[in-house]
Order: sequence, then structure tokens, then C-alpha cells
Amino acid sequence: MDPDRFAGAAVVFAARSSWEDLREYARGGAVALLPVGSTEAHGPHLSLDTDVVIAMAVAEEAQRLLAEAGRRAVIFPALAYGVTDFARGFTGTVSISSATLEALVVDVARSLAEQGFAPIVLVNHHLEPAHFDALHRAAARAAPARVLVPDHRRKPWALELGEEFCRGGAHAGQYETSLVLAADPGRVFESRRDLPVLDIDLGRKIREGARSFRELGADRAYLGDPASATAEEGKRLLRVLARMVTELVLTEPSE
Ligand SMILES: [Zn+2]
Repeated sequence: MDPDRFAGAAVVFAARSSWEDLREYARGGAVALLPVGSTEAHGPHLSLDTDVVIAMAVAEEAQRLLAEAGRRAVIFPALAYGVTDFARGFTGTVSISSATLEALVVDVARSLAEQGFAPIVLVNHHLEPAHFDALHRAAARAAPARVLVPDHRRKPWALELGEEFCRGGAHAGQYETSLVLAADPGRVFESRRDLPVLDIDLGRKIREGARSFRELGADRAYLGDPASATAEEGKRLLRVLARMVTELVLTEPSE
């Protein structure tokens, strides 16, 4: 395949296309990128749709990288609800059950697969363990749909995402705030500059039984250091996350 065949082509969003325009992509077996986020409190300085904004930005960057490698990909509308029990009690947060999420993902994936899209890639940016687990379970039982779940908590990717991420402080801190500064800076509120560092040993607290941001001591629904976030770091992180998605697709053994 000519590696430059799709390079430079416009980003294709399924929701903004007519069905007849999209049919050609489906028949050609295009990759379906399905961004997955949440509607969840992200500190006083980020919007509730932070995970959706980041997942969409990663999907767009991944689509460009796939095009450069000669693979066509289409971005489908994001799933904006997830399992967000840690943020329960913070206004605006909406949590669905693991079973609901799993069933929804299986149905969406099978519907896309029926039309010819393959693989279906869950571009997830909501990190709650129960949420990620539900996505992995959905992928495992979505046959005949082929579903991939890039997981940036795993090596080697986690190691490239910075110290705060590796220590588990990746909720609305320097890591996520940097990503939003790169993806959609208007969604980062100025209040972030005055927020004190909240250095919490997440792993230890969870082992001790904490099951919510309040129990972790994160009274305003953020961890880490939002004030030190930069757009430059966000751009670097976006590229790492998009490379992870792209490499998983390109190394997938085809049927
Ligand atoms: Zn988040």
C-alpha cells in the first residue's frame, strides 16, 4: 500500500459526514476510532468533559498518524459517560455501572463491525480502574467485532507520561491540565494558577480502602500540580498517546 495515500487528507468525523460518504470508508475496512471519556469533576479549573476532550484530541492525532502509514480511520462520536465512582458527590458527575458500559461498548462495536469497520479502537481517557476493566471485558467478548483497547497505564507507555502520571496523581493535575492546554486551551480556567500541589500517594490510599476523591483527601476533585502544566508538555503527551494507539493498530495481526 502506498504509505502516503491518505496523508494530508482531512480528519474524518463520522458524525459530520453523510452516510453515503462514509460507506466508502466502511467498505474499505477503515479503522473506527471510538473516543471514550466521562462526565466527571476535574478540579475547579477543568471542565466536566475533560476526558472526552483529551480522548478526541488523541483520536485526531492518531488518525493523522495512521493516514501517514497508509491506513484510513474514521472518528465516531465519543462515549461521554463512564464508571466514575471516585468522583461521586461532586456536582455534574454522572456515573454508570460497569455492566452498562460493557454492554454499550459491545453493542456499538458490533454495529460498526457489521458495516465493515475494523478494528474498532477504544481511545479511552478515563483512568478509573473499574472503567478501564469494563472496556477490556467488552473487547474480549465483542466478537465478531475486533476491538482494541490501548492502555496507557501499561509499560512502556506509562513511563513516557511523566512522573505525576506514574505516581497515580493523574487526575486533573499537571498531566491532564497540560493535555487540555494543548487540546483546547479555552477549557482551562485561570484558577488553576492558584491551586496548591496535592501530593497524595494514591496507591497506598487505595490499598488502605479509599474509594472516592474525598476519601483520598482530594476535596476539590484534583490531585497533583495543575499550576505547573504547560501546553508544550501537553503536545508531547498527546503525541505519546497517539503513537500508542497507532502502533497497536499497525501491529495487530489481521484476520
Ligand atoms: Zn480525567
